Amino acid sequence: MHQTSELAQHSSETKTCPQCKKQMPVASEYITWCEYCDYNVNPAIPEESTPITRLYERLGERLGTAISTIYTWFDLLYPEKATNGEREDGVSLLEVPAYYFMKAISFIPYSLIYLLTFFLYRNKQVAEFKAELFEAEVTGTHTAMRTLEKLHYGDLFAYISRKVALNKEKLNLFTELRSRVANLPERERKRLKRKTELEKTRIDTTHPTTRLRMNLLKAKTVHPKIKLTSLEVSALQKELEKLEEPIQEKIIDEIKYELYQW
Ligand SMILES: [Zn+2]
Repeated sequence: MHQTSELAQHSSETKTCPQCKKQMPVASEYITWCEYCDYNVNPAIPEESTPITRLYERLGERLGTAISTIYTWFDLLYPEKATNGEREDGVSLLEVPAYYFMKAISFIPYSLIYLLTFFLYRNKQVAEFKAELFEAEVTGTHTAMRTLEKLHYGDLFAYISRKVALNKEKLNLFTELRSRVANLPERERKRLKRKTELEKTRIDTTHPTTRLRMNLLKAKTVHPKIKLTSLEVSALQKELEKLEEPIQEKIIDEIKYELYQW
């Protein structure tokens, strides 16, 4: 009963789920998804890639120059990669030991990459968990959870930032974002929450998944150590407002750089 009234609020149109054949309410502006089998909860389909390209992409992106440089060494040393897979007709006898020698040498940067990521990310993830607990000790579990819930809107933030960056009229990123989140349909909110819950744990990210961080907070309920008066809240808000403009400029600069650097 509750479900039908909630669905009717947004759209009376439904579509048959291609996976479980149940009815999904169609969201015109948002993503149409199925709450029974999670169909289309996260429409971003990962690009097809080999383990090596995946490794390279993730490492290069997240760990920066250090590891991508090591990868270049591997790239140069590993025989098949260095010759691009092309070989001239006939293999001379000398090439055989050279091949295995290079292959063995390339193992050094290869294992270095693995080691570096393992240590770096493991420490970072543990540190993130600890930071979560420290935060909860000060703000209380409830507020810490609310802060994590804001991570559900990461994609929305990226979308709004791009919109603000490319808009001819000058918009306020923070006002746009706040009003967009406030006006989000309940069903879309539910989808974003579900998307977070379905996130897989990965060793190669700096942050543990939001789901795990929330579970940690839920496991140990603490009351806030600090409670702000409404006067303090508005004073703090005023201080933060001054930062909105410079932060927005920086975000827009970065988006434009990414768009036009080629
Ligand atoms: Zn379904």
